[in-house]
Amino acid sequence: MSTEAPAGSPAPASLSASHPLAAPSALPYQLPPFAEITPELVREALLAGMAEQRAEVAALVADPAEPTFDNTVLALERSGQLLARAERVFHNMTSAVSSDRIREIEREVAPLAAVHDDALRLDPALFARVDAVHARRRDVGLDEESVRLIERYHLDFVLAGAGLDDAGRTRLSELNQRLAELSTTFDQNLQAATEAAAVVVEDVAALDGLSEGEVAAAAGAAAERGRAGAHLLTLVLPSGQPALAKLRSRELRRRLYEASVTRASSGEHDNGPIAAEMAHLRAVRARLLGFDTHADLIAADQTAKTSAAVDALLGELVGPALANARAEAEVLRELAGADGVELAAWDWAFYSERVRAERYAVDSAALRPWFELDRVLVDGVFRAAELLYGYTFRPRPDLVGYHPDTRVWEVFGADGEPVGLYLGDYFAREGKRGGAWMSSFVTQSTLLDTRPVVFNNLNVNRPAASQPTLLTLSEVTTLFHEFGHALHGLFSAVTYPRFSGTSVSRDFVEYPSQVNEMWALWPEVLTHYATHVETGEPLPVETVQAIEAASLWGEGFATLEYLAATLLDQAWHRLDADTLVDDPQAFEAAALAAAGVAFDLVPPRYRTTYFQHVFAGGYSAGYYSYIWSEVLDADTVEWFKENGGLRRDNGDVFRSRLLARGGSVDSLAAFRAVRGRDADTAPLLRRRGLSPAA
Ligand SMILES: [Zn+2]
Repeated sequence: MSTEAPAGSPAPASLSASHPLAAPSALPYQLPPFAEITPELVREALLAGMAEQRAEVAALVADPAEPTFDNTVLALERSGQLLARAERVFHNMTSAVSSDRIREIEREVAPLAAVHDDALRLDPALFARVDAVHARRRDVGLDEESVRLIERYHLDFVLAGAGLDDAGRTRLSELNQRLAELSTTFDQNLQAATEAAAVVVEDVAALDGLSEGEVAAAAGAAAERGRAGAHLLTLVLPSGQPALAKLRSRELRRRLYEASVTRASSGEHDNGPIAAEMAHLRAVRARLLGFDTHADLIAADQTAKTSAAVDALLGELVGPALANARAEAEVLRELAGADGVELAAWDWAFYSERVRAERYAVDSAALRPWFELDRVLVDGVFRAAELLYGYTFRPRPDLVGYHPDTRVWEVFGADGEPVGLYLGDYFAREGKRGGAWMSSFVTQSTLLDTRPVVFNNLNVNRPAASQPTLLTLSEVTTLFHEFGHALHGLFSAVTYPRFSGTSVSRDFVEYPSQVNEMWALWPEVLTHYATHVETGEPLPVETVQAIEAASLWGEGFATLEYLAATLLDQAWHRLDADTLVDDPQAFEAAALAAAGVAFDLVPPRYRTTYFQHVFAGGYSAGYYSYIWSEVLDADTVEWFKENGGLRRDNGDVFRSRLLARGGSVDSLAAFRAVRGRDADTAPLLRRRGLSPAA
């Protein structure tokens, strides 16, 4: 039989029994049968999965019985399994093995998925049932995880607007639509303005300081724009441009800096009014949904819970960050002064780089022979997990991944019991997006009797044939980081799939993976894996110390520029629904001054008009989450150190009280169960070398 449907043809509402995604896979741990899966088959499964879930939900809504936990929330939690199976496989296709056909399916399916989600979240009859179960959640003898599941679903419905009357829902849908349009405009303006702001350099001598490769790239960029013979410095998203650290021409540094920080702030691509209207409409929407501000609405869904909690945390960091940035400025002023230069914002990176080179000579390229991929993975990453948690990893070359590069390991717990699968796909290639990430093909849950199948993706350059794969230090750290997410997925021991592993809020999810980075340079781990690929000689201790010392320089600047962007994000999203800002640049300046982060030598990492994360990404009122999870991380690292570091009993506490619980318990309560108290910001300040403000 043929299961290949012609491109674009309607898929059947249900799948034939022989379709590889029709039922949970029969392979070990329900590993998807990748050898049989094609994009067309996944497309069919996505469409059939949406239809199946709508039918499942229609049946539960039509149930004449009184709404109960079992017949409503649990039925919802069990619904959509075909769709979930197909979505996980498809999402990985779009990220790791994409193609024109897959992108085409993506464009076809994305709007259908949005309609599908709305149909579920905005169904008044369904919400009425969930609301009734929610009202009695404490009175029917449910365990904590089940109560939490009800609350989780209820909040989803409330945030989606299911509790509104008809007029309210119409208004909400208008607001969402207008916001989506504005967000697209913001992104398009930003792209056009960024291209327009690229700096043309007529005289190649002005590029002194850049490498040969960088000069060639600038020549290529100019030629591409029809400016053969000239050079073009294109802009990256943050305020700081990489070339600022290298260019010896002060005049060119100034031009590049000004082009960057004034991006999209005037003329036909001015994003100021777009951002102001978006902030206003988000405030209007928040009020409609019962919140004072958009920041409060966002925090309700996070571990922070309130915008006041976010304030309290950021408030503790501002003083030390500013004081340390000022101290760094003093060092730089002196260096610049010796050149007869009065330090300006465009000189910062240049002199900062000089300090790094002179005081902390670490040649990061020279470290690579100590970091061979398999040694780092097996003798570093896996071994740290074995010493800490007792878990072991056995290759399963008999199991097929989604690409020839994908390797599969079976994971065993401390008692030797099989736990799940870990897949690793480490090389860059065409069709794989940039960056590094972890995700799951199967999530653990006792409700569905499933065990975890998790995977990591990195983008390491493939070596020439028969050469070893040598990593940079930053790639080593990334591998430990992503594996920290993988452990979060593998350790999961929850009832409901909704709470499995990494299904925690955005301001918590990076915390366990950041903690796992600590083992990369932990002496007992490092000496075991970091041996020279040719000589077998261990990485010298002095080199490790130099790396650690160098990492502290510039933290005042980095923390302050991050906090400034974060507080700007908060300021825009603390507006009430009656305020429409008419001068966005004045608003920005006043907000930075009021937050105590205005320092003319250190601009925010993103200014309003190019703050893509919050006006064209998913981070509105949520840019704080990076440092929120790092506070938890640094405090936990100190807890490990206070208790003897890499020990099984420490690992067992961290695993059983926090990692295994996923989203099934209050995240900060899980943190307290490990740390014995609420999180403290002092360890983060110490780690970043920031002394408290005087
Ligand atoms: Zn991460």
